[in-house]
Formats: sequence, C-alpha cells, structure tokens
Amino acid sequence: MSVTDYTPTIDTGGPAQPLLTVNHLRKYFPVRGGILGRTQAQVQAVDGVSFAVAKGETLGIVGESGCGKSTTAKLLIGLTEKDAGEIIFDGHALGERLSLKDLRRSVQMVFQDSYATLNPRMTILASVAFGARVQGLEDPEGLARKMMDRVGLDPNRFAHRYPHELSGGQRQRVNIARALAMSPRLVVLDEAVSALDKSVEAQVLNLLSDLRAEFGLTYIFISHDLNVVRYISDRILVMYLGEVVEIAPVDSIWQEQAHPYTRSLFSAMPSMDPDNRTQTPPLAGDPPNPIDPPKGCRFHTRCRFASDVCKAKTPSLAGLARNQAHQVACHLYDSTSGHPQAGQGIPA
Ligand code: SF4
Repeated sequence: MSVTDYTPTIDTGGPAQPLLTVNHLRKYFPVRGGILGRTQAQVQAVDGVSFAVAKGETLGIVGESGCGKSTTAKLLIGLTEKDAGEIIFDGHALGERLSLKDLRRSVQMVFQDSYATLNPRMTILASVAFGARVQGLEDPEGLARKMMDRVGLDPNRFAHRYPHELSGGQRQRVNIARALAMSPRLVVLDEAVSALDKSVEAQVLNLLSDLRAEFGLTYIFISHDLNVVRYISDRILVMYLGEVVEIAPVDSIWQEQAHPYTRSLFSAMPSMDPDNRTQTPPLAGDPPNPIDPPKGCRFHTRCRFASDVCKAKTPSLAGLARNQAHQVACHLYDSTSGHPQAGQGIPA
C-alpha cells in the first residue's frame, strides 16, 4: 500500500480512539565504572510515564533538556529498549500481538539533525526510497518521487542531488518525505524544526499540518519552543526529571498552567507585550541529578510552594476540578494530601 492509497483512520464520530497508549514506561541507563565496568548507578531517564494519543491528534511534549523527552520518543519506536512498562499501538501490545518490525513500519521518526540522519553517499531519491524498498513496498522510487513532490521538492531537480547540496530546510523536507514513504500512522518529530530559520520553520510547520490532514496522521511533537508546540499541538504534555507533571488541552494550559514547574517554563517565554509580562519568578538552579532524584515530588527542591508532604509523598496525576481533561501531578490540587490547596492563600 502506498501513502497515496492510505485511508485516514481518524474517527469522525464519537470519542477519539487512542492510537498509542503508554503505561508506566521506564528506562534507566546504567552508569558503569571501575576496572570491571560494573554498574555503579543508574540514570533514571524515564520513570513511570503514562499517556495516550488519540487517532489524528498531535501531542506536544515539552520540558528542560534532560527531562526524558527524547528518551521517551526513542522508546516509542524501539530505538531504545524499555526496562518496564507497556506500549500499546492500535490495541496491540508491543512484544505480544505486535512485533518491533510492525511497530517500526507504523511509527516513523524525524530528528533534529537533518544532515546526520541522511547517508551522505546516497542521492536524495535513494534515501527517500530506501525504507520503502527494505519493507518490500511496490515501486519504491515512484513512491519516493511522489513524496518528494508532496513535501515541495521537485523530483526532477532534487532526485540525484546529495544531502550536502541542500539547505537545512530542504534536508528536513527529505526526512519528512522519507518518513511518509513508509505509510506511517504515527510520526514522532523530535525537535524537527528547532534547527531551522524562523521563516523556514513556519513553512515546515504548515507542511506538517497539511500532511496530517491529508494522510490522517497522528503526531508526537517534541520541542523546547512553547510557541511552536502551541501552534501545532492539540494537547501538551510537560515532563520534569523523567516524569509527567502536567498534561492538558492546549487552550486549557495556555489559560492556566497548574503545575509550578509549567508556570516557570511558560514564564521563561519572552514577551514583547509590556502588559503581558509574567509575574512568576524564573526557575532557579539546575535540575537535580537524575541518578539520585529527590524523594516525593521531584520538583520540591526548586518549588516555592513545597511543604513537608511534598518531600515525603509522590503526587499522582489527576484532573482539575474545572476540567478533568487537564491533569496535574501536584499536592496543591489534592485535597487529601494535607498540603494547603491552590487558591487558599496560595496563588492558583
Ligand atoms: Fe511544588 Fe509540592 Fe506541587 Fe511538587 S507537589 S510541585 S513541591 S507544591
């Protein structure tokens, strides 16, 4: 089946069905040392991450460097092996009714470094057709030409060029065409527009939006740029030190950032509007060491609302009273935690 034959799977009636469900995903990287190279510690890169992505949805993932965004993405496409947890794609659990090979056919990834991900000795046409040829799809070169055309690269001009002859924006279009040539259902975009000039970034974002509608794609969009994430996403998931701290529809989180960490992230966004300057102080200090993260709430060492309960008890994700779809992991919103509640003398 080619991309042009692809039938969109978005549910147009009734509640959206999850295409991807992730339950309690965990990945620790060993830190080895000594003469024998024994494991001496473990970096807790992803720890108990759970979320779902509906068919046709774009989920944006944000957080500081080292928060586990990219490791989560690599776990989703099997580039990194998970230690624990469950990945369910379209109702089939990875390792049970779903093989890694099938998952890699349905889930494609576009990385930040458009040059490093292309083979410098392969022509653009060969690069775009490569995956389709390996998967045994019919007429991989014809499919590659169609996809190049669709992402705005004239096959007659670009097919026989090499990656070093293209600009960064053109190379990222090649990577998008290469991903689409595999007829994916989910595309993970890991800082895919971060290295582009602003004008080219806008063009590629518009292209991604058009392709999502045309092919019924589902996206996971990872970026440190909140404005870019807002533009393309339906929901935003915020990670801190390997955990999910907040997940909400874009409009809801833009209206109110519930978690103190999310507020700090948003307050760091530059604003040209003098009437719209943030009142939230910027986040102080570096994130704690992921080898030995703080007990209880991992954010308590940097949180101005932290109390004793935050140091002892890990908060769970739960929906806000005003909007159950807006979930936050913070004792400020859990009336059973013993922590003073948001709004009761504490800024909401
Ligand atoms: Fe701050 Fe406590 Fe909420 Fe963690 S649980 S973010 S330390 S108030």
